[in-house]
This record gives sequence, structure tokens and C-alpha cells, in this order.
Amino acid sequence: MKTREYREYSDDKYRRSVYTSTRLRDESRNDVAFDVNVRMVLLAHELGLGYAALRKIVKVLGLPGLHLKTYQRHGKTVTAAEIERDLESLHRTREQVRQAYADIDADVAELLREDADAVINISVSFDGTWQKRGFTSHYGIGVCIDIFTGLVIDFEVLSSYCHACALKEAARHEGKITDEEIDSWRETHDCAQNFRGSSKAMEQEAAKRMWARSVSRHQLRYIQMLSDGDSAAFREVVSLNPYPGHEVVKLECINHAHKRMGTAIKC
Ligand SMILES: [Zn+2]
Repeated sequence: MKTREYREYSDDKYRRSVYTSTRLRDESRNDVAFDVNVRMVLLAHELGLGYAALRKIVKVLGLPGLHLKTYQRHGKTVTAAEIERDLESLHRTREQVRQAYADIDADVAELLREDADAVINISVSFDGTWQKRGFTSHYGIGVCIDIFTGLVIDFEVLSSYCHACALKEAARHEGKITDEEIDSWRETHDCAQNFRGSSKAMEQEAAKRMWARSVSRHQLRYIQMLSDGDSAAFREVVSLNPYPGHEVVKLECINHAHKRMGTAIKC
């Protein structure tokens, strides 16, 4: 962000530029980025807002806004930093969970003394949700929470939509680009769509992916699963058989059982 400070005369010799923000090194294009601009993008991400909302905020506040291209460029940098921060946070959380189990179970403590990376069994609560209600959402998330500590230990975000792909498909439909051009573009395209299927199936898929990677990535077996009344995710995990020789069992939540019984009595 840059403003110009004018003295009494508009002659160049009385004019000088003043930067109102410190500048950061922008590694993505070997250039500098204004700290305040990067922070504006971070603000939008933290509030779950997009470019249009950010434009409204700066308009109301009487501040200069970011160009869309600048917003998109900083968006990539900020997203990469956020992912790194989240992964680091999850790593620390899992270490805390392992320590917590070792503190209450002498066998686990002994196991971890012999091998700090040994696989241990834990009990988790699993649930999934969507960006929109009514099973029409393009985005869904599944979350695993360790029951003992209450800490989130893993999550999986599923997207059945990619805006870049949608724009290309629209262009193809209008005859602006050919199939060959799209195929060549796809070779280097980092697609946002990581799931094909119904919104309802997202919850099961998220569970399947997290159980499938729990041992190899986190050295944890989610051996007890607490989830809501819908057992579809549990059935999916059981059919996956993620831990040969170790059965995954379902825990019943008293609140969900209570709710289901209440509904049944009322009907
Ligand atoms: Zn795509």
C-alpha cells in the first residue's frame, strides 16, 4: 500500500512517496509484497470470506482495496502457510495424545519407551458435516477427535467441485477451447476436486481415508469409534479392515441413543 504525500507545491522536487506498510519478500515471483496486503488476505481466510466480501470491507472503511490478481497471488502464499501451520499443529496434538495415553496406561508407556514411534490404540469420536445443508453441498469435512483428551487429531476435507475445471468446461461448451487444449491443461492443473460422488457419501469417504492412513502417517489405531446414529461411516471402516488382527468397534453415544429413542416414542 502506497500513498503519495504532497507538499504545498505539486512540483516533483516537493513530492515524495511514502510506504504506509512494511514490505515482505515475495518468494513466488522474486519480488516484494506489502505486509498489509498479505494480512488482508489472511483476514479474509480467517473469517471465511472471499474477494467480494473483502472489497466491501475496504470500501466501507475507505481503504484502498487489492486487485483481484494480487489477492489471488497472496492467497496461494497464505494458503500454503496455513496448511503448514495446521499440519504442524496436528503433529503436536498427536504427540500430546500419545503422551496422555502413556500417562494413564503403563503398557503404552513401556511400549513408547522401547519405540517412540510404536503404534498405539486410541478411542476416537468421528463426525462429518457439510458446507451447506440438504445434501447439495460441494464441500464436506470429516473430523476425528481423541475421546480421552478431546483434541482433534485428523480431518479430511472433500470437494466435489473445482472452479478452474468448471470454467474450462464452460469454455469448451462455448467452443472457445478444444478437447486437446483442456487435456494438455489438465496435465499441470492442481485440481481442487478430490471426490466424485454424492454429498451424503462424503462422510463415509472421509472416515475411510482417515482410518486408512492412521497407522502409516500417525502411528495410531482408531480402535474404538464413537459416531452419531448413522452407522454408514462405521460400516465403511469395518469393510475397509484397516488394522488386520485388530477389530474396530463402535461406541454408542448416550445422547444420540437418547435422541433416537425419544424420536421413536413420539412417532
Ligand atoms: Zn480442477
